[in-house]
Amino acid sequence: MQPFDHRYREALSERSLKLTIAAKENGAKVVAVYCAFTPKEIIAAAGAIPVSLCAGSERPIAAAEQHLPRNICPLIKSSYGFALTDTCPYFHEADQILADLTCDGKKKMFELLGAIKPVHVLQLPQSADTEESVRQWSGEVEKILHLIQHITGKKATEDDLKQSIHRYNAFRRTVQRVFEVNTGAVPLVFGREAEAITDSGGFDIDLETRIREMETAVLELEKRAEDSAFMAEMQKRPRLLLTGCPTTNKKLLDIVEESGGVVAAMENCGGLKTAGMQVDTKKEPLTALAEAYLAVPCPCMTPNKGRMALLEKLISDYRIEGVLELTWQACHTYNIEAYSIQKFTEDRMGLPYLQVETDYSQSDTERIRVRVQAFLELLR
Ligand code: SF4
Ligand code: SF4
Repeated sequence: MQPFDHRYREALSERSLKLTIAAKENGAKVVAVYCAFTPKEIIAAAGAIPVSLCAGSERPIAAAEQHLPRNICPLIKSSYGFALTDTCPYFHEADQILADLTCDGKKKMFELLGAIKPVHVLQLPQSADTEESVRQWSGEVEKILHLIQHITGKKATEDDLKQSIHRYNAFRRTVQRVFEVNTGAVPLVFGREAEAITDSGGFDIDLETRIREMETAVLELEKRAEDSAFMAEMQKRPRLLLTGCPTTNKKLLDIVEESGGVVAAMENCGGLKTAGMQVDTKKEPLTALAEAYLAVPCPCMTPNKGRMALLEKLISDYRIEGVLELTWQACHTYNIEAYSIQKFTEDRMGLPYLQVETDYSQSDTERIRVRVQAFLELLR
């Protein structure tokens, strides 16, 4: 059985880095995004290479804390620390940063980041539900297009934009197909593996190859249904839905699957929160992109009703037995919304719920393991 582990993921990253460095030597530009609200379709259509920056390592946090307060979320500190110490190849290669104003910590961190690289701030509305918000976000999306065209010197035609939308729609549909192997009676892929299989490699430089590789991986995963030992093992495992902050650091995911559970579905950014998005190809491209991206159900928006609707669908589609919420320490948006998610999970869906608040260090790993094991026991 092919392992889809950290080595698989590292190979993807190395390949995409190599391709990007070669493209840069030939004059290509790299544009980085920090958040799921920014349409990467526009960056690619205007001839630049998109890359997502979202750090998950504890290593650069001490350096970040020389400029940032300690009591902000580890994702922000790690991202800033990598930039400050110039130890992240993705940040290093970036010529331009696009920064969505989401939570307060990120917003203020971006001001400091501007001293290291060019940062273009995107005025993200606080609500996705009004016509004014969509209009405002359409204006911001159009500004991105002009900025990237200026950087690359390439004009993106309507056709370029449509092709880019088609490519990203196909990529997201394939990511969804990977997770969907877990909708049957027995899940066929671990959450840790699904994350590795659906990784873009960092730089979105060759999405067609990634789509083909994911399709091959789906065939591999489907073959697991013929392996009776594997099926017997998976059948024993409680099926969890992981929700909450982006799973930039894998500590919780590892603990759950080492402790006998399986993360059958992930509602987090990069997982099914964003993979389910399909941009309307019949509408004018910039409007279609603005509408689709603004609807990402993130707690930075108020209200954020889309998250409950998505959770309800995933719980049903993936035959979920318990909901696990990951909250990075000092992430106020997710932490406050956790109260509503718990009520929704327990009262409306009738399922057990566990929230784990943690950071990127290993200091609480064993304490979390004990809580997760008790939760899995309850589900059994
Ligand atoms: S959870 Fe929200 S703020 Fe965080 S990356 Fe996703 S969309 Fe952005
Ligand atoms: S995890 Fe929370 S605090 Fe951290 S960047 Fe995302 S929304 Fe902001």
